[in-house]
Amino acid sequence: MNKLIITVAPVGSFSTKKDTPHLPVTPPEIIEDGIKCWEAGASILHYHARDKDQKPCLDYDFFAKVLEGLRKHTKLIVQISTGFRFPTHRDDRIRAVDLRPDMMSLNVGSVNLARGPYINDPVDVEYYAGKMIEHGVKPEIECFDVSHIHAGITLTKKGLIKDPPYFDFVMGVQNAIPYSPQHLIHMIGSLPPGALWSVIGVAKAQLPASTLGIVLGGNSRVGLEDNIFYSYKVLATNEQLVQRVVRLAKELQREVATPDEARAMLKIENS
Ligand code: ZN
Repeated sequence: MNKLIITVAPVGSFSTKKDTPHLPVTPPEIIEDGIKCWEAGASILHYHARDKDQKPCLDYDFFAKVLEGLRKHTKLIVQISTGFRFPTHRDDRIRAVDLRPDMMSLNVGSVNLARGPYINDPVDVEYYAGKMIEHGVKPEIECFDVSHIHAGITLTKKGLIKDPPYFDFVMGVQNAIPYSPQHLIHMIGSLPPGALWSVIGVAKAQLPASTLGIVLGGNSRVGLEDNIFYSYKVLATNEQLVQRVVRLAKELQREVATPDEARAMLKIENS
């Protein structure tokens, strides 16, 4: 079985320090957390930018500072998010591509989230995928629904995503696909041959989804973007969530990939 690639998503678009003091929201905080998570066994770090009020933003300098710090202090595969729910010019969402990070997330379809629609126009999605190919950036194909897998397959067939395509199933977001083993198994069965996959369990789905990801031969993403709790009413740190998935992998006799091994598996071009 392939080695397990662990992604950590230390900060997303929703939680703030009011929800958990452990959330890193500035470049130095994300870099510090990134070092700990890399030492704990993570291979990929996926992050969003925040402004001084902790609101999600697309600040180019924020993305650049985190990328620079992580490259200086770790061997992590750095994945910048292009996710942004609010109306903006499409170039804003993909601007950081010219920093040539190892990876960027690619939302391939629209979906209703808890607080409203999240629009990803197929014309824009092709534009983002084209920019990523041009800059040697590997996309993480985020799938909030089964139909998004098919959108990813279409992009692959059009030559806009290189082999092997890397699908990440986001499960448990309100109004999108819920987490269940049956849904996950159906999503895996919908993948094209040779694809790699990972699972993102949101909130209480994180522990069972990441565990099933290990068991079924996929990969797992954990972190405070998706879930701020370690257990009932107990807040987690990013490092603790990575450490737990590493322990689970050990018990389940699945080896954890190093960042270099993950780079080879994903055929990452930049570094
Ligand atoms: Zn994200």
